Amino acid sequence: MRALTWQAPDRLSVETVPDPAIVNPKDVILKVIMSSVCGSDLHLLGGYVPTMQPGDIIGHEFLGEVVETGSAVSALAKGDRVIAISIIGCGECAYCRQNDFHCCDNSNPNTPQTELAYGYTCAGIFGYSHAFGGYAGSHATYVRVPYAEVNLFKVPEGITNEQAVFVSDAAPTGFFGADQANIQRGDTVAVWGCGGVGQMAIRSAYLLGAERVIAIDRCTDRLALAERKAHAIPLNYETTDVHEALLELTGGRGPDRCIECVGMEAHGTGIEYAYDKVKQQLRLHTERGEALRQAIYSCRKGGTLSVLGVYGGLLDKFPMGAIVNKALTLRSGQQAGQRYAGQLFQYILADLLDPSYLLTHPMSLEEGPEGYRLFKHKEQNCLRAVFMP
Ligand SMILES: [Zn+2]
Ligand SMILES: [Zn+2]
Repeated sequence: MRALTWQAPDRLSVETVPDPAIVNPKDVILKVIMSSVCGSDLHLLGGYVPTMQPGDIIGHEFLGEVVETGSAVSALAKGDRVIAISIIGCGECAYCRQNDFHCCDNSNPNTPQTELAYGYTCAGIFGYSHAFGGYAGSHATYVRVPYAEVNLFKVPEGITNEQAVFVSDAAPTGFFGADQANIQRGDTVAVWGCGGVGQMAIRSAYLLGAERVIAIDRCTDRLALAERKAHAIPLNYETTDVHEALLELTGGRGPDRCIECVGMEAHGTGIEYAYDKVKQQLRLHTERGEALRQAIYSCRKGGTLSVLGVYGGLLDKFPMGAIVNKALTLRSGQQAGQRYAGQLFQYILADLLDPSYLLTHPMSLEEGPEGYRLFKHKEQNCLRAVFMP
């Protein structure tokens, strides 16, 4: 089959590789229909996530058709149109049994790396380095899905491929972020980052009762989409003092809930950004935290901060004092989409959610490296390039 592979930092290539096969009785093989780029792939591309090996297939947001089932799979059959949740759960460990699939104890067979870095092993993720399980990703003709009955969801009739593919990662991640932000009816929510996940977090915040959502970014096209499609109030941090503007919009109080959808490669302005960038390039720390610091600083007293951006290791100048003295609640995590897939499909069917506008660049798999180039540099207003093998 053909697959988009990581070869070295900032070098991807499409190669002919062996087809995947059933390894465990709970596996399913999918023929990939659509596979999307995601902002967190850019950290792999930039070389910020260790334990990538040349030849690794990336991609974790996908829709496919079941072509082969393992002997222990009965709820899925050949021909089913399904999405996969990007963070893999086993369905049987103590965490999965309490719906915390993103904390799964069993889905990552490579335990030492995350144990060393984080104290415990973390759940496996499709196409996301050997530390996170070494699973082949979905930018390929076929992909193997472990614990298939836990991680695959049949797409109901009436939902298009363009809508369904984002129920794999962007939509449940945004919803997860809004859900754990503890939004109360009437709240003002501020969202940092208007990429695919940020757009979905804005929409989800409204679905969960927010009265107003303020969207913060520097890309004018993404801010315009956040305003037009998700009804957010746009703030451009390159032309506006974000903290001042947030105070003005909230009567001097600050947003009740802040959702950070940026992560370790935040852009920014001024000396703080330059400091972060130099230290990151010297590998003195792993993260650039300007968006996160701003969210902590601007959140109202007693508010909640929900962090969806991906961070890998250590962040310098973390304002713990602001968290303590303002009594903030900080929540984070990779998404637990198994909880939300059914609910998100219902929102789509009821016309309350339509993630299809994220798909700006439909492409063939062979155009994969070009898709990532456009996405990385935000050229041609690329929000999501989606490959159709
Ligand atoms: Zn993702
Ligand atoms: Zn589990």
